[in-house]
Amino acid sequence: MLNCNKKRLEDKIATFSKFGATNNGGITRLSLSKPALQARAEFSKRMKSLGATIITDDMGNIYATLKGSEDNLPHIAMGSHCDSVVQGGNYDGILGVLTAMEVAETIVTEKVSHRHPITVMIWTNEEGARFDPAMMSSGVITGKFDKEKMLASKDINGITFGEALDQSGYKGEEKNRINPKDYIALVELHIEQGPVLRSKNIDIGVVEGVVGMINYEFQFIGQAGHAGTVPQKMRKDALLAASEAIQYLHKELDKLDDKLVYTTGRIICSPNVHTIIPDNVKFTLDARHQNPKVIQEVVAIIENLPNELAKCKVIYKKLWSRNTVRFNNELINLVEKSSNFYGYSNMKLYSGPGHDAQFAADMLPTTMIFVPSIGGHSHCEIEKTPLDNCLKGANVLLQTILSIDKQ
Ligand SMILES: [Zn+2]
Repeated sequence: MLNCNKKRLEDKIATFSKFGATNNGGITRLSLSKPALQARAEFSKRMKSLGATIITDDMGNIYATLKGSEDNLPHIAMGSHCDSVVQGGNYDGILGVLTAMEVAETIVTEKVSHRHPITVMIWTNEEGARFDPAMMSSGVITGKFDKEKMLASKDINGITFGEALDQSGYKGEEKNRINPKDYIALVELHIEQGPVLRSKNIDIGVVEGVVGMINYEFQFIGQAGHAGTVPQKMRKDALLAASEAIQYLHKELDKLDDKLVYTTGRIICSPNVHTIIPDNVKFTLDARHQNPKVIQEVVAIIENLPNELAKCKVIYKKLWSRNTVRFNNELINLVEKSSNFYGYSNMKLYSGPGHDAQFAADMLPTTMIFVPSIGGHSHCEIEKTPLDNCLKGANVLLQTILSIDKQ
């Protein structure tokens, strides 16, 4: 049974963990920053030494390709992103790149014959932590984002994405973009970023898709006044109204399917002064579920919210939404089969967070493989996936790629 190499994978994780290392064991590796360019250089060096040909496209995405035995067959792609959030961990994104590199290295060193060219990819600016928005390059390639607008996106120092890309040395040609004509599949391995696999002691998440979501903003308009003079009964306290609305929403949303997750992560209280009754409060509600019907039920609950609470006016609006994305059935089955091939425990699940694979799925057959995250921690320095789980993920990726090659 063909296996990836644990020692080599461990070395890859340790090496790349140095690029942007923080003092607390995490990394800050913002897109196209110096540490991100170091990671890209190391990737290119290692892939070249395996005999791969390296090209980049106009968004700086990197493609390192091992030639197949049959000319003119389309590529099979695998990979993820190497940028991180501020004070992020050593696994989000980069593990999908490192396991893909390890799969390529296993194929080369074990002299595994393959018909199709096999391409290891790095996506540019998945996190959107330096240049807004997230999943920028996959968004441009699949026509969801306007390229000129993206090139003009600025970081906090006023440097545009376009300028950073020009200076990076990784700007290539548009014709090099991953596309449905030259590629038959894309597989992205990623950490789960949630606690489910780990809590159930399951090795592999067979990802069926990415959940749909909505994001609403609620506003409560009251009357400001002096905290020491206005009698309680005469107040129009916008914060009290907002808190009643949050209670109402939680009570009602808890009656829906238990796979629904929802969050109020932002609240803005004005004027936010300890001696003034708040007159204007806003909060957001993010709700996610794989079934569009459940999302509709959430919207119905929002629409049933009284238009006056605590004598304050209640307004709401939809900020944005995304539909559930379903990955390619054949590829989902291949991931499950590959996992069973090694005897790894596995379960089907949907991704809560967004990934480049979700945009790519509009363009060509795509799927994802999840590995467990200890404590479900992600986007933080303590983010970790045990080495054994990383290796199991790499093996499933290897077997999935080789199965696609045989078809
Ligand atoms: Zn990621």
